[in-house]
Amino acid sequence: MYDYLVVGAGLYGAVFAHEAKQRGKSVLVIDRRPNIAGNVYTERVEGIVFHKYGAHIFHTNNTQVWEYVQRFATFNRFTNSPVANYKGELYSLPFNMYTFNKMWGVVTPDEAQAKTDEQRAEITGEPQNLEEQAISLVGRDIYEKLIKGYTEKQWGRDCKELPAFIIKRLPVRLTFDNNYFNALYQGIPVGGYTKMVGRMLEGIEVRLGEDYLKKKAEYDAMAEKVVYTGAIDAYFGYRLGPLEYRSVRFENEILDTPNFQGNAAVNYTDRETPWTRIIEHKWFEFGKGENGEDLPKTIISREYSSEWKPGDEPYYPVNDEKNGALYQQYKALAEQETNVIFGGRLGEYKYYDMDAVIAAALERAERELG
Ligand code: UDP
Repeated sequence: MYDYLVVGAGLYGAVFAHEAKQRGKSVLVIDRRPNIAGNVYTERVEGIVFHKYGAHIFHTNNTQVWEYVQRFATFNRFTNSPVANYKGELYSLPFNMYTFNKMWGVVTPDEAQAKTDEQRAEITGEPQNLEEQAISLVGRDIYEKLIKGYTEKQWGRDCKELPAFIIKRLPVRLTFDNNYFNALYQGIPVGGYTKMVGRMLEGIEVRLGEDYLKKKAEYDAMAEKVVYTGAIDAYFGYRLGPLEYRSVRFENEILDTPNFQGNAAVNYTDRETPWTRIIEHKWFEFGKGENGEDLPKTIISREYSSEWKPGDEPYYPVNDEKNGALYQQYKALAEQETNVIFGGRLGEYKYYDMDAVIAAALERAERELG
């Protein structure tokens, strides 16, 4: 009998398992996939650290979390500076003086401010949805070219139907600063995330290719308590109806060229291009291999966003009103499962960043284990 069965070897599960083990508890971690690390899983292909389930760039303002992850990995100095490609025109992201200069020809911060103020005036009162929020942040021109198409592709919904908070992730600056995140700390674990998660799980029994929900009673009998990080609606057999998720599909290509796009991420912000972005993985480690060598090839991933259907991997919860209300009902059911802790992006149906998921797991572990 284990003290804890942790379902899911992603960040939430790995942190919780580590903390429980540290406090002398016996822990078994299982995962449906053949690998640990959930969606932050990386593997080396052609000498390149390949982010198999999408680009992950660690960033945080939380000093405690930053210090915590340092225990398990050395972080490099990668700074996310995606480029937007709108019908062949390139713009700097996030929205900053380089973007405004390219968009409007303005040169000074005052000119940029005047231009955005003029365009923002069309929104009066509190923005009610993502479209209004975006226009009130940066004006219609930027909304039309750099936000609308990308957002509608990513979420498969009209910007008027999406919550305003999604776009609040994006900073707007009147300086020449292409750093996508407003974070004190940023970087990528040298050699990839799998190694980092592997160190969190050191000394802990992990079984892969194990589908908890298929043999739930059997697994439940193996531990005092369960930490479940899968989808909350799946746990309850979708009994209140399915929650909506967005899924992502990648078309990966190894190219016989050292440099395809000169940047880790290029967002395709028009509506017509079917993919949302192309990731060129080698730039997460500055184009160098494990021993600092130049790499002759490159790997790119075209990312396509789609509505989740059974059998797909869920990536993003759709945090709109309808799903939020349904989640609340599932949460009420979850609260009655006294021996089960629901955590993580899928377990809590929340658009968590990596640092927030680690903070949540640490906090839950502290509350649970003292
Ligand atoms: N976004 C956008 N244009 C861009 C990049 C992002 O409009 O070029 C908006 C869009 O609404 C998106 C949100 O910002 O849903 C968050 O995007 P990001 O790529 O940061 O999310 P991630 O997929 O990395 O979690």
